[in-house]
Amino acid sequence: MEIQKPQNLLHQGLFDEWEKNRSNAKKLAESIFEEKGLHSASMDQMAGKAHQNIFEVIDCMSCANCCKTTPPIILPADIKKIGSFLKISPNQFRMKFTLTDVDGEMSFKKVPCVFLGENNLCQIYEVRPAACREYPHTDAPGFRHKKKLHLANAGICPAVYHIIKNILKEISPSIDPA
Ligand code: SF4
Ligand code: SF4
Repeated sequence: MEIQKPQNLLHQGLFDEWEKNRSNAKKLAESIFEEKGLHSASMDQMAGKAHQNIFEVIDCMSCANCCKTTPPIILPADIKKIGSFLKISPNQFRMKFTLTDVDGEMSFKKVPCVFLGENNLCQIYEVRPAACREYPHTDAPGFRHKKKLHLANAGICPAVYHIIKNILKEISPSIDPA
């Protein structure tokens, strides 16, 4: 009989493993993009399956590392929606919470995110930016073409590290990527 570990222990196991190996996460991630014979559609399929499996175990509420370390990109539609939720004008919202880089890309000013509340609760969850809703982008089409993004996120997000590790195991079952 298989004895099931409680969900939080399973999460903690994955989280601890990522913490231990995160300095190598980029290198591990690079190895899946070196697989020349793998078509984009197959990689999307593997990434989608791994994403689903890993997020059944990983508990974002016990992590929030993205919210603590990485300011999300803010789109004009986000400004309108969040501004209206906070009952301030888009301009007030922009001035108070965002900055724009040299390429004209807007993001939140501060990390950890000012909207990250107690117990890792997002205080604007219903209207959070699209970038937060879609993070870590591992179930979106075109996984193979977002190498730079996934390499960076493997060091930020334990789920990305494990999704990549699962893909690697599927590509090369004999490799122990730990
Ligand atoms: S870093 Fe990844 S696992 Fe952690 S909260 Fe963000 S999406 Fe979830
Ligand atoms: S808006 Fe919410 S989900 Fe997005 S970074 Fe801030 S706390 Fe996290």
